[in-house]
Amino acid sequence: MWTCRNCNARFSFNQVEAQADESGFFFICRDCDYRNNLVNVGPDAAGRPQLIQRDDK
Ligand SMILES: [Zn+2]
Repeated sequence: MWTCRNCNARFSFNQVEAQADESGFFFICRDCDYRNNLVNVGPDAAGRPQLIQRDDK
């Protein structure tokens, strides 16, 4: 689950689509449009990036 840092809405990974730009990975909250930063902790067994939320971001 990801949690919006602005409004505390919670989303499962298939509800919101992670995006990336020059400053890194993020997802946009569907409720309030807040940009939530994500951290890529490396590829999983299938080679896809694993994106997590850091507690301090
Ligand atoms: Zn939100």
